[in-house]
Amino acid sequence: MKVFSKEIEPGEHREIRIPVGRLPSDTSIAIRTFIYRSKKDGPTCLVMGGVHGDEINGVEIVRRAMQEKIFENLNCGAVIAVPLVNVYGFINFSRDLPDGKDVNRSFPGLKVGSLASRVAYTVSKHIIPNIDFGLDFHTGGKSIHNFPQVRFSRNHEESEELARVFAPPIIIANKPIPKSMRHHALKNGKPVIVYEGGESLRMDGFSIQRGVEGIKRVLIHKGMLDGKNEPVNSLFFENSTWVRAPRSGIFEWSQSAGSFVRPGEPLGRIGDPYCRDHTIVYAKRKGFIYGHNNAPVVSLGDALYHIAY
Ligand SMILES: [Zn+2]
Repeated sequence: MKVFSKEIEPGEHREIRIPVGRLPSDTSIAIRTFIYRSKKDGPTCLVMGGVHGDEINGVEIVRRAMQEKIFENLNCGAVIAVPLVNVYGFINFSRDLPDGKDVNRSFPGLKVGSLASRVAYTVSKHIIPNIDFGLDFHTGGKSIHNFPQVRFSRNHEESEELARVFAPPIIIANKPIPKSMRHHALKNGKPVIVYEGGESLRMDGFSIQRGVEGIKRVLIHKGMLDGKNEPVNSLFFENSTWVRAPRSGIFEWSQSAGSFVRPGEPLGRIGDPYCRDHTIVYAKRKGFIYGHNNAPVVSLGDALYHIAY
């Protein structure tokens, strides 16, 4: 097994720093890649976080799994763990790169492209070719809190199997976003599932715990770790829609992610700052809230609730 032209022998654990650029201060930036190879052949699993630099729960899940040493005694195969892909976003508390571009909309990337494109290229060129399947850990974007969930590529059997074995509270079948890591990996025959939990720049214990458990369950299922997976029921959805703000103002939610709702049920209200009036936000259809917006001030049309059905 070779990563960034460095050979990893059977039974070897090593870190490889793959350079992606330098800060204006001349500090070098690398994607720090941790490889845990068993003595016995088997599948290679990618466990990756921080493609979006402010989605800390994803970074923390990979970090926690490494801290718990769950990759250090694999029965077979290998794990490539990358806790933090987007170092630039991480140090700037931002989803994106300093150029405003999103790594997860830049795959497969270009060697001589924008910064986001170069980071994506580094992952596509040096990491993806070495894996058989992957787990990509994210967190709700902006002020959206996501109930722990896995998104897999609809009508792709191996991806669905990974999602079901991972057994998060919620599973959503959808189409991979063009130019995302999941989309690029799938085009190369490698199933990747995307886990989302909690809100950016905020730790969420439940999301972190379910993320680490999911990694263990997948590795047990693949025969890479000892143990037995207890059956867990996940809620399974194939469609979703946003409830958007019917006006601008101060938003108070009364329903949050993790609840079932019926049509006509009040979800929250939006009022002006001078208590002149307010507008109730209602559910339009029966479904399950799997994401809600924690922003205290919203504008007309802002996404408030992500409802799966
Ligand atoms: Zn993300």
